[in-house]
Amino acid sequence: MYYIRTQMDFIENIVVGTGVLGLAAARELQYINKEVLLIERSKHIFNETSSRNSEVIHSGLYYEQNTYKNLFCLEGKNRLYKYLKDRNIPYRRCGKLIISDGTKHQNNILDSLVKKAEEKELDYKNLSKKTLKNKYSFLRSGENIFIEDSGIFDSHSYGLSLLADFENSGGLINFGNEIDKFTKSKSKIILHFRNSEYKISCINLVICAGLGSINILQKSDFSMQLPDQVLNKGDYFSYSGKVKVNELIYPIPTEHSLGLHLTPGLDGRIKFGPDNEFVDTLDYKVSPEKKGDFLSQIRTYIPKIKLSEIHPDYSGIRPKIMIEGKIFKDFFPVFEKDGDVTVSSILGYESPGLTSSMAAGKYLMEVINGG
Ligand SMILES: Cc1cc2nc3c(=O)[nH]c(=O)nc-3n(C[C@H](O)[C@H](O)[C@H](O)COP(=O)(O)OP(=O)(O)OC[C@H]3O[C@@H](n4cnc5c(N)ncnc54)[C@H](O)[C@@H]3O)c2cc1C
Repeated sequence: MYYIRTQMDFIENIVVGTGVLGLAAARELQYINKEVLLIERSKHIFNETSSRNSEVIHSGLYYEQNTYKNLFCLEGKNRLYKYLKDRNIPYRRCGKLIISDGTKHQNNILDSLVKKAEEKELDYKNLSKKTLKNKYSFLRSGENIFIEDSGIFDSHSYGLSLLADFENSGGLINFGNEIDKFTKSKSKIILHFRNSEYKISCINLVICAGLGSINILQKSDFSMQLPDQVLNKGDYFSYSGKVKVNELIYPIPTEHSLGLHLTPGLDGRIKFGPDNEFVDTLDYKVSPEKKGDFLSQIRTYIPKIKLSEIHPDYSGIRPKIMIEGKIFKDFFPVFEKDGDVTVSSILGYESPGLTSSMAAGKYLMEVINGG
């Protein structure tokens, strides 16, 4: 049940956005601080990036030590697996095979991934040529690493479950209203809506508006210097061929993405993606013209895949942070305390954002509570 209060003009804590980060943060805040209002511009949760991704639970292999991505992914993964199990939400700890195309460059990257797996004490194995041939006869035989701890899950059911926790503990939610900006007045933050004169005030504001978070902060009374944001689109193609596989199959990661990978759905259907392309607008169309490029990338690990077996599907857009002309590879938390009021957000909240959500949500709650 959703509560819509048109007369409410003050509530202690407001979270903007009901993607995975907003829901996780609002749930944590509601458990500790009480009095939380979630505001979402669309009519439902998971309106944007949270429903445009691979639904992979990442092991945390890739990320550099001492980064937020590493910290949140490792903690978030453990909390997420436990939560999914406790709540009977569909998931499969299927494991992930990362396979090199045999070039020296890729083999070197693979070696560094093996080192990382050891440093992080992740369970892994290297599959022999024979095992590869027997179990994955459709794959190119190459140096590889199999990470046991990766998985796939039903992220939408997870989002609905976070929402239910939030509401069952007294949290309030308001759909269909878009935040334009905020201003600070005395000891309160005043939120201004787009296309409405209505205003509401709070003390703690958490902005989890995904790709739009930075715009809200830029327009508002937020004095911290903000980085630039660029958009990086990832397209997916579905697969209609005969290959059946239960595990995730990844190529070697590239500069801006984890590589155009094979993800088996919980329903057995396979998809390939995402690629990565810097874009200027939020256009989610997937161009059939990319077929050839997808095919050549997939052929680096499935040599016999045919053009007729892949079909344009959906896409998602990553918010990438740019600092001094370079892509910043970590999440970018921002926080400002001014008298009694606090504003916080995590910019650049791209992959592994689903996996990290419980840890990142807890982090935002702790920031407000001085943790
Ligand atoms: C191609 C791709 C693949 C990915 N694959 C994975 C993966 O396999 N595993 C993984 O762990 N992570 C993955 N991620 C990352 C993950 O999907 C994101 O990190 C996460 O979903 C971002 O959640 P969010 O809550 O920050 O943003 P969103 O899900 O975009 O939510 C933002 C919400 O805020 C609302 N909103 C926006 N502006 C306003 C406003 N002004 N007022 C009110 N509401 C507003 C929107 O409607 C939306 O509901 C992937 C991302 C991409 C792009």
